[in-house]
Amino acid sequence: MDEHHLSQRLQAVASFVKPGSRIADIGADHAYLAAALILEKRALFAIAGEVAKGPFENAVEEVKGQGLEKKIELRLADGLAAIHDDDHIDTVIIAGMGGALIRRILDEGQAKLGAVKRLILQPNVGAPNLRRWLAAHRFQINHEQMVEEDGHIYEIIVADPVGMPVHYDDRELMFGPLLLEKGGPVFDKKWQDELARDQHTLTQLEQAKQVPVAKKHSFQQRIELIQEVLR
Ligand code: SAM
Repeated sequence: MDEHHLSQRLQAVASFVKPGSRIADIGADHAYLAAALILEKRALFAIAGEVAKGPFENAVEEVKGQGLEKKIELRLADGLAAIHDDDHIDTVIIAGMGGALIRRILDEGQAKLGAVKRLILQPNVGAPNLRRWLAAHRFQINHEQMVEEDGHIYEIIVADPVGMPVHYDDRELMFGPLLLEKGGPVFDKKWQDELARDQHTLTQLEQAKQVPVAKKHSFQQRIELIQEVLR
């Protein structure tokens, strides 16, 4: 993979960037995504934020190598601290991390989100709690996509601020409000796999010497919900 050949997952993330955007890619790693967006002229300006030195240095090399120093600013920083007010960032991308970490980054960086018009998030796990955070902070999920690549299924969540209360019920939080509507073979595959895993866990719980009743009950509820959705 490089800036000319993004993975399918990152291509899908990039497709949700509106032309003419000023983006911040947080956890940019090698900065391929930011470089691709600038080279395609989809983004006008990019911040590539990285908290770890190794990836940050890879990003520095990438940006220099492509001669993109005027369009991409590299910042060694934790989360949204990479964004400065005079960057006028309108789109924040956080991809390839756990949902809990993405949620922490958003939560701690709320002061930087005032002028942001779009969040493009790709949690590797823990999407439901991330959706809960988005709704609680008045972000509406306007696009969701699943991408299957190299044996993994990824969820991309695109949320825009709406300035009014947003509510998702438990089903929408778990499956994704739009993914739930769309369904499709990748959706079915993901949830069939989850169902099999949960059923296996439930069997193990039932075989325990002291059955953990509350845990068993919550797995039973999850299993019923998945079965209902897959029906
Ligand atoms: N975003 C790229 C992608 O989707 O392919 C890279 C994903 S990589 C698995 C996660 C990157 O996020 C790592 O380079 C890690 O150093 C960085 N990271 C983790 N926590 C971070 C934080 N709090 N702020 C900025 N970067 C962070």
